Amino acid sequence: MNHFAQKLAEHSIALRRGRPEILQVNVGKLCNLICVHCHVNAGPKRKEIMTRETINRIIDWLAKTDIPIVDLTGGAPEMISDFRYFIERVKELQPARHVIDRCNLTILLEPGYEDLGKFLATNKVEIIASMPCYSAENVNTQRGEGVFEGSIAALQLLNSLGYGISPDLPLHLVYNPVGPSLPPSQAELEADYKRELKKHFGVVFNNLYTLTNLPIGRFASNLRHNNKLDEYMQLLIHAFNPVTIDGLMCRNTISIGWRGEVYDCDFNQQLAMQWNNRDMSGLFLWDIDPKRMENRQIMTGDHCFGCTAGAGSTCGGAIVWR
Ligand code: SF4
Ligand code: SF4
Repeated sequence: MNHFAQKLAEHSIALRRGRPEILQVNVGKLCNLICVHCHVNAGPKRKEIMTRETINRIIDWLAKTDIPIVDLTGGAPEMISDFRYFIERVKELQPARHVIDRCNLTILLEPGYEDLGKFLATNKVEIIASMPCYSAENVNTQRGEGVFEGSIAALQLLNSLGYGISPDLPLHLVYNPVGPSLPPSQAELEADYKRELKKHFGVVFNNLYTLTNLPIGRFASNLRHNNKLDEYMQLLIHAFNPVTIDGLMCRNTISIGWRGEVYDCDFNQQLAMQWNNRDMSGLFLWDIDPKRMENRQIMTGDHCFGCTAGAGSTCGGAIVWR
């Protein structure tokens, strides 16, 4: 039993799935950036991307369900050649589905992507964009030189298309700490972001989501390199908050990888904790029945302490409002 499972047992908590409400699709590891906190180890040289054949199989499966939200992540999901095809196919489904694009902003300014913002707006795709600070220094330290300036220009472009202004074009920003610490209060930080981005750049957005860095991928390697990994794990363990359990994203989200393989969440995906058949062969989306997922036990590891620390952390921000 891992330490997280032990902690749940001490609190008499059984972590099991509820009804699936979100299909989160990680379309691959290709990205135009190489951020130090990246849990996916994404970058411009990665070759793992979803094919059209896999997209078609996902659409066929999705069509037989009423899962209302499709959440596209990566890498930079927009960089796979069938990104637009995927969204157009999802948008044809009945009942209608809501699509989220997890965007690093700078991709909107890359050559060849000039009309991407317009495409997203036309298809009413919600944008959740990484923006680890409202100051240039912190963003450029975490994501690379010039990323802050590019992100601001992209936000201004999105605002000009109606994002963050029109009710059907939501624009949310994501904050994660630069170093080995827990995020501050989401509500207070959101007020700071709104004030500073409006004042200095005329940028508006809807909500700020604070995320805790999980100790995996490039972030864990970085901590290990600086002899900070144990200290960070202790910080997460001591901040364990049982009130966050009901709101964990693994309870209502199905996570799939670029080959269609199934996981409890994107973090488990990066740790290769794929769902298995009884014979231990890996399960793919088209092998599972969405009606039979409720109450399934969730696969955990010590990294899960990152989701339950303090106010908690999900792809939609803090779980408990402080
Ligand atoms: S954190 Fe996001 S933007 Fe940065 S390298 Fe990873 S996938 Fe790309
Ligand atoms: S990492 Fe977080 S979301 Fe994933 S299984 Fe653990 S607690 Fe759930």
